[in-house]
Amino acid sequence: MAERLQKVMANAGIASRRSSEKMILEGKVSVNGQVIHELGTKVDSSDVILVNGQGIDVEKKVYYLFYKPRSVISAVSDDKGRKVVTDYFKDIPERIYPIGRLDYDTSGILLLTNDGQLANILMHPRYKVDKVYVAKVTGLLKNDDLKKLRLGVMIDGKKTARAKAKVLSSDKNKKTSIVQLTIHEGRYHQVKKMFKALGYPVQKLKREQYGFLDLTGLSAGKYRKLTNAEVERLK
Ligand code: URA
Repeated sequence: MAERLQKVMANAGIASRRSSEKMILEGKVSVNGQVIHELGTKVDSSDVILVNGQGIDVEKKVYYLFYKPRSVISAVSDDKGRKVVTDYFKDIPERIYPIGRLDYDTSGILLLTNDGQLANILMHPRYKVDKVYVAKVTGLLKNDDLKKLRLGVMIDGKKTARAKAKVLSSDKNKKTSIVQLTIHEGRYHQVKKMFKALGYPVQKLKREQYGFLDLTGLSAGKYRKLTNAEVERLK
């Protein structure tokens, strides 16, 4: 889709739209080798744009909140031909990818973007975004084990950070518990490993919240765009 040059520059994080206009008028911007001097120029992702001789990334930044169903891979392709999260986004032109991962058999909230900078920030361990999971586990969770979940469990030789945990319900006949666990780390299979370490295999897992974001209004397999305010709040 063709867009005005100053808008594309602003989206690429070069400068505000107003400052980008100024740069164009000053002859600092070229498109496909031609210096541009007026403001009407439209460009699309096939155009080569240089600002002060430096290339810019034309693709507009987009941010989606997706309700990942179970049996879907959190990747952009799969060598075994299984369904991947980006299969749900075939009608959007941008090349997006998931921020972090949910297991194949885990459902719930997943963010997708083409903004590598934001993806890096959110995936960095220093950036402690709370993720709220609801797990159905085998066994009736003992109070002692609930405390252990909260204080930290040894997995792969390292104790997990403090977490919030509460039992939402339990079924005494089927001997299962539904437990809400809030963690800010993102270790490999972390939730499953934490429960397994205490002797409660996870039967079903769903991520219900990612920071301040939740799945309100979405059903499995559906997505929505994040609002500008939500994107700003994430940064
Ligand atoms: N922890 C897990 O074990 N699996 C997930 O998909 C997410 C967190």
